[in-house]
Amino acid sequence: MRTEVAVVGGGSTGSSILYHLAKRGSPGPLLIERGPGIASGMTSRSTALVRTHYTVPVVAKMALLSYRFFRDFGSLLPGFTSGYRETGLLIGVDGRSEGLVGESLKMFKQLGIKSDFVDKQEAGRIEPLLDTSGFQSVVYEPNMGYAEPSTTASSFASAAGALGARVLTETALLGIKKVPEGYSLSTTKGDIEAREVVLATGVWSGPIFEALGVPIPLKPVRHPVAIYGRPAEFQGVGPAVFDFVRSAYYKAEGKNLLFVGSMEAELDASSPGADPDDYDEGVTFEELEKYSKWTSEVYPIMASKGTYERGYSGLYDNTPDQQPVIDELSDFGYPGIHCLVGLSGHGFKLCPEFGRVMASQVLDGRFEDYDVSAFSLKRFGEGKLLKGRYDISTVG
Ligand SMILES: Cc1cc2nc3c(=O)[nH]c(=O)nc-3n(C[C@H](O)[C@H](O)[C@H](O)COP(=O)(O)OP(=O)(O)OC[C@H]3O[C@@H](n4cnc5c(N)ncnc54)[C@H](O)[C@@H]3O)c2cc1C
Repeated sequence: MRTEVAVVGGGSTGSSILYHLAKRGSPGPLLIERGPGIASGMTSRSTALVRTHYTVPVVAKMALLSYRFFRDFGSLLPGFTSGYRETGLLIGVDGRSEGLVGESLKMFKQLGIKSDFVDKQEAGRIEPLLDTSGFQSVVYEPNMGYAEPSTTASSFASAAGALGARVLTETALLGIKKVPEGYSLSTTKGDIEAREVVLATGVWSGPIFEALGVPIPLKPVRHPVAIYGRPAEFQGVGPAVFDFVRSAYYKAEGKNLLFVGSMEAELDASSPGADPDDYDEGVTFEELEKYSKWTSEVYPIMASKGTYERGYSGLYDNTPDQQPVIDELSDFGYPGIHCLVGLSGHGFKLCPEFGRVMASQVLDGRFEDYDVSAFSLKRFGEGKLLKGRYDISTVG
């Protein structure tokens, strides 16, 4: 089989790239996915928060453009949905971060992101059940919400299919070798020749880069999520909450669920790496105890009336600065092999813009709307890390 462009990995990243390639007129781009369907990997475990609060300006810009894509998804991809629901975001800020958050808000204004400090009375009007007494101050961002991650990826892949793209599931990449007109991908369903290749293989990327001899500092790190049932007084879709005091996030989903996750452990460079094919996919008693304590402190009603429903863990594909690698591997001897990996726990919300950037990189040889060179792989070797402003680097 031969194709102009082969995308490896059918999560939110690869599916969006496939769609944007097809939309740009790439003839019959091909996506291979080793799982039984689109979103077989970490995308399906994502809490899928879509927000713009990032302290690295280029990431905030990508988040804003991606947010607009989610908001307008149905008109951009007629007949398809991302399941996006706008909920707003309240950020409970601690004393240490307050000045830094103020700096971020100035940058957001320049970019056109709506976000500002609100007094606690106003915060209480937005979410009456939130106890803000432990926060130094509160920020409100109205343009924030969550989407359905698997649906988003499937929508991108199906819309790409309608434009002539092809998807091969249950097809695993086994190896890549150079051929005169590009690369030959050895897969479990036979060889595929492609002029250009895009790796969007998430937490499974390590061995693929290793086989190519390309050093990349990726570490899969476990991320547990606890899901609580909310009582009758606390129903419906409400604002998500970022809690800088406890380094936690809370997402009121659907009718009566509350998803709770940490923004702390995975920041620690010493957190142990995990094997993507063999890790604890549940939530430990200690994790649950900690999450329940946070939840009860922040939403006092949950202390007496909340119920624990279930929990699970996924993996983040962390880089040392917790920002993605968007690059072509030419410097490593592989012109025409591109990668979009190392999304470090915040790659879902950026998937629309990832697709647009990578489609330009592949089809035009460059992306010129704004400078994405800061995401290069060589930044790690050169010590040019994209460090965010806060200690909570998942916020980036
Ligand atoms: C619990 C959790 C919560 C999260 N919450 C958020 C959030 O609120 N907001 C946000 O923006 N982000 C969030 N993230 C991060 C976000 O979900 C991920 O960054 C994003 O979904 C990754 O998408 P991906 O396509 O790069 O990877 P994946 O979805 O993992 O897709 C990679 C695909 O590649 C396939 N693959 C791998 N190796 C091969 C091979 N050799 N051959 C063929 N196919 C292969 C895999 O099967 C997989 O389907 C969260 C992540 C987790 C785990």
